[in-house]
Formats: sequence, structure tokens, C-alpha cells
Amino acid sequence: MKVLDLRCQYDHAFEGWFAREQDYQDQLQRGLLQCPVCGSSAVRKMLSAPRINLGARDAQEAAPAATVPDVPDAQQPPVPDIAHLQATLRQLARKALAQAEDVGQRFADEARRMHRGETPERSIKGQASAAEAEQLLDEGIPVLALPPASTETLH
Ligand SMILES: [Zn+2]
Repeated sequence: MKVLDLRCQYDHAFEGWFAREQDYQDQLQRGLLQCPVCGSSAVRKMLSAPRINLGARDAQEAAPAATVPDVPDAQQPPVPDIAHLQATLRQLARKALAQAEDVGQRFADEARRMHRGETPERSIKGQASAAEAEQLLDEGIPVLALPPASTETLH
């Protein structure tokens, strides 16, 4: 087994393992030798002078061959787009509101009747005071208070 110190055109150092030195020549000529860091096949053999510095420096030089190339930014998971999420939620709320039956001032009564099963389960909207909405929530009836501008409450 022959271990050669190789280096690509961008100076990435790595090791190539060959059965014989002739294999290195063959693979190089056929373009089979590639830098593990950048994939370049412009690879050259470093002079295999007797290793003098076998200490830390040697380990440092060999390190690049073992590191995984940095993942390009484009492949990073996208940062959640909060503004987009909020827009989607607003859209859903608007859609639910548009489909909900408008019961106006009877909202609290209607929500209670629906909760007790006296009237079919459906989406309703209407007006409820903050106290009424709070009371409904206390009774375990899910209501969604909409922003004051809409002056409507969604069940
Ligand atoms: Zn390289």
C-alpha cells in the first residue's frame, strides 16, 4: 500500500491510497483522481520527502481532506417567514369569517345553544362584548375574538 500526499490546484491537501505508485499515475491520467474537497481532478503529488514534522503541523495539513465541504447557503433550511405566516393566518380567519353565519347580537346565546347541542354545529359570527366572550370561554365554549376593527366575534 502506497500513501501519497496529494494536492489539488486549489491547494487542498489530501491523501491518496494506492496499491502501487503506478496506480496513481494511471488514475491521474484517466482523470479518476479527484480532490475530496472541491472535486478538481487537477491533482498533483507532493514530493514525498521524508517527513520531518510529524507533529501538530502534519495533522493540521491532513485535516482539510477529512472535512466535509461547506454546504452552500442555498441548501440551508429557509428561515421561517413570520410576516408570511401572519398573512396566511389573517387570510384563514377572513375565510372562516366569510363562511360563518352572521347571528349578530345573538352570538352569545347561539354559541351556548350550539355548545349544548341544541342547534347544529357550525361557524357563526356576531357581536359579543368582552365580558360575554370571556364568559363563553369560561363555559368552555371556544370563541375567537377578532381585532376591534372588525367588531365581530367568530365561533
Ligand atoms: Zn481541492
